[in-house]
Amino acid sequence: MPEPDGTLDPQERERFDVWLARYWEDPDCPICGSKDWSRAEKVHQIINTATLGPEGTSYPAVSFMCQVCGYTILVNSIGAGITMPDDAEAGET
Ligand SMILES: [Zn+2]
Repeated sequence: MPEPDGTLDPQERERFDVWLARYWEDPDCPICGSKDWSRAEKVHQIINTATLGPEGTSYPAVSFMCQVCGYTILVNSIGAGITMPDDAEAGET
């Protein structure tokens, strides 16, 4: 389960590393062409503002940001197998 601030626990970090090894092929940034990416070690909750409140939905994601132009890639952490649905308290995936 991620820490309250979204920091990945050791198992999630390991699953993130497995995902990276399998899928991350050092892509070029589609905006500036750089390969200089940073990754956040936290899960972000992307909130559907149309459904705010107790019945609201959110989508857990890990992110990669281009260090040159700031372009950001979001990957659903449940879909990627990094976090579990209950851990991320997601409404939908
Ligand atoms: Zn860029």
